[in-house]
Amino acid sequence: MSVNNKYEAVIGLEVHAQMLTKTKAYSNDINEYGANPNTNVSVISLGHPGTLPVMNKKTIEYAIRLGLACESNIAPYQYFARKNYFYPDLPKGYQITQDKTPICTGGHIFIKTDDGNEKEIGITRIHMEEDAGKSIHDVDVYDTLVDLNRAGTPLLEIVSEPDLKTSQEAYNYLTEVRKLLRYLDICDGNMEEGSMRCDANVSVMLKGSKVFGTKVEVKNMNSIRNVQRAIEFEISRQIEQIEKGEAIAQETRGFDALKGITISQRTKEAANDYRYFPEPDLQPITVSKEQIETVRETMPALPRDLFFKYINELGLSSYDAQVLTDTKSIALYFEEVIQTTKNYKGAANFVMGDVKSFLNNRSIEIEDFPIPAKHIGLLVNIIDEGKVSTSAASQKLFPLMVENPAVEPLTLAEQNNLIQESDENSLITYIQQVINENPVETERYKNGEKQLLGLFMGKLMKVSGGKADPKLANQLLRTTLDNL
Ligand code: ADP
Ligand code: MG
Repeated sequence: MSVNNKYEAVIGLEVHAQMLTKTKAYSNDINEYGANPNTNVSVISLGHPGTLPVMNKKTIEYAIRLGLACESNIAPYQYFARKNYFYPDLPKGYQITQDKTPICTGGHIFIKTDDGNEKEIGITRIHMEEDAGKSIHDVDVYDTLVDLNRAGTPLLEIVSEPDLKTSQEAYNYLTEVRKLLRYLDICDGNMEEGSMRCDANVSVMLKGSKVFGTKVEVKNMNSIRNVQRAIEFEISRQIEQIEKGEAIAQETRGFDALKGITISQRTKEAANDYRYFPEPDLQPITVSKEQIETVRETMPALPRDLFFKYINELGLSSYDAQVLTDTKSIALYFEEVIQTTKNYKGAANFVMGDVKSFLNNRSIEIEDFPIPAKHIGLLVNIIDEGKVSTSAASQKLFPLMVENPAVEPLTLAEQNNLIQESDENSLITYIQQVINENPVETERYKNGEKQLLGLFMGKLMKVSGGKADPKLANQLLRTTLDNL
């Protein structure tokens, strides 16, 4: 659309990630999704007067992990603040959050752009805070129900710089954030269950302008795809409005996934509406260099590091490296496979092909996959050694390995008569038999119909019971026929 070429969008995302701690941020209440309503609620979650919050140390460790992964600065001294507002699912009447001293500032997350390059998205800040309870409007006809199980769940809020330019970049950014949270084991990244949520800040301006337009904040998206749809709608809506000569109101809008539109909810409140002040019931926290180093030592491998390792050290294509690192458990499985084989491309093919389609067909995760990674490595090796053919490995041996996960593939191949013939003498015998049984074709081949080689190959595989090593057999067959 020509009008869209006049404008460009500016997008910044705020992601809330529920941390996978056993207990809540400031109490011993259990932190779990899906429990019966109002069962994980002590007097602290209920905000009774006179109760005191106690800091959950694990949340600090998780925040440092994410900060290290994003190469952020980690603040040595922090204190908490009260953000005051009234809401039925916020019993204390305020949220404990980090206002002036977020645990992480700066840093970046790398995303893929539409043309396949890498782009750095700046991180403004990452801070710790607590979640509110849940108001449920659609279960009771007359009343709103309140479930306070979620109240006090520890959150990390990740605020990006306004570096994103398209809805696709926003989609890619959220995919990377979710991947990172999952690799770091600090959040399950499940947007449908609300354990990862995203507010999208969107504005438009004339192309090339240095001054950002007024931003609108869009909430209520329950999937990465819906964030993308909401942003697309919002960009078009804002452009239309500006083209009509109307100003954009700074407001919060909700996304209606069924209609694919955003709807005005409220005009944006200013920060001073919240009357932030330092939380008097929690000690300030200090993070020492030693503490950071201790966390650094226990950091798992990160998807981007593995991606570059697969390309630079293993010689895999960027497509393969991408597929293998998309999911942490697949990457870890592949890491184990390559402990037993040096044929990295062969191992990648097997994991991305046979293993992944098996998982897809059965709708299971790799955690429930029966074949130990080591055996996939051994399988790749015996294919390379010519002991089994690629097709026998995929079609016959692989299913047997699924049924007999404790048995090594070579043993299974021997027990089931799948070892291919790469002994020249027995191959010559088969070749002789095929030539004797097909005198007409042999004559035609001798007269120049070289394309009959395929037919001879087919017959040879048949008389060998599918066990002839196809590469070697093909070579021997050709020389034998050519020398007749
Ligand atoms: P607020 O105080 O309203 O929450 P912030 O300045 O903290 O606003 O920014 C919140 C988010 O909005 C950040 O992710 C930031 O990158 C993004 N943002 C800021 N200005 C704009 C803009 N003009 N257009 C789009 N996004 C913006
Ligand atoms: Mg905000």
